[in-house]
Amino acid sequence: MSLGLPSRLPGTPSIGELIRGAAPTFSFEFFPPKTADGERLLWQAIRELESLRPSFVSITYGAGGTTRDTTVAVTERVATETTLLPMAHLTAVNHSVAELRNVIGRLAGAGIRNVLALRGDPPGDPMGEWVRHPEGVDYAEDLVRLVREAGDFSVGVAAFPYKHPRSVDVDEDTRNLVRKCRAGADFAITQMFFDAEDYLRLRDRVAATGCDTPIVPGVMPVTRMATIERSVQLSGAPFPPELLRRFEAVADDEAAVRALGIETCSAMCARLLDEGVPGIHFITLNRSTATREVWQQLAPTQVAAAA
Ligand code: FAD
Repeated sequence: MSLGLPSRLPGTPSIGELIRGAAPTFSFEFFPPKTADGERLLWQAIRELESLRPSFVSITYGAGGTTRDTTVAVTERVATETTLLPMAHLTAVNHSVAELRNVIGRLAGAGIRNVLALRGDPPGDPMGEWVRHPEGVDYAEDLVRLVREAGDFSVGVAAFPYKHPRSVDVDEDTRNLVRKCRAGADFAITQMFFDAEDYLRLRDRVAATGCDTPIVPGVMPVTRMATIERSVQLSGAPFPPELLRRFEAVADDEAAVRALGIETCSAMCARLLDEGVPGIHFITLNRSTATREVWQQLAPTQVAAAA
């Protein structure tokens, strides 16, 4: 597999091509920093994880479109100053179509040709009423088309193993995911989840519609009890009760919580790889240690899969 090539080199495969390749991809997600300290931590994590030669890395777009400039700047810096292949997240929140085209143009100008197209959430309360920008778009599906029309981009979309919190039921959620794929998405990456079955059921539902867009599981190891609460807020999915009991049993011991988080995340990733997932996308929260530990546990599987 061609890993670690700067994104501008001619012939560098797109992320869509890598995900459809023979070996599973391994990728890391970072968020744009807001402070000088945050920036130092981000670059430390990027440098530490670079040596693992991930297939690609992605940079999120701040809630409410607040990090437009930092997302573009960090993604560009990854493209020009590291050996990593970057993808920029882009959301439609608070942006007119003209502004979205402008951001897409800046990404293209920086040599970035991989974009994760998202609707995003309303600023402030993520579950508040979604109000489209008067000259903007309604759904991620529209943004997929916009990015596609703008040039030779490889486009990804979000998927929700448990269903998106706003979707009425899983069937509606599946139909909307498939619409995004048919609008031109090359791949999907899921919201974090903690039960492999949730992912496998989503994959089956999408396959049953005849859609073969690869769906990459997004994972994040629990490193503190607070991660559990945060994951429930973000995904709208209940934390698996059996797993919750295991964490609650060691809740007073920070090191034991962390060790259990690494162990259970590694076990879930190993199961997903056995099930033939197209890759694993790690949400790093701009820290390298937990991701590296899960990666190390998976190393033998990874080597076997790539051979
Ligand atoms: P959509 O696909 O537009 O879906 C939104 C809702 O509308 C869903 O309920 C869907 O079922 C419904 N829907 C979709 N299409 C239609 C249609 N045509 N007709 C009727 N209903 C429809 N947020 C950020 O702010 N920045 C990020 O960088 C970011 N990165 C993310 C990365 C991943 C991997 C994931 C999974 C999520 C990420 N998010 C990010 C969160 C995401 O923006 C929110 O979950 C948002 O609420 C939904 O975005 P979407 O792209 O899935 O929207």
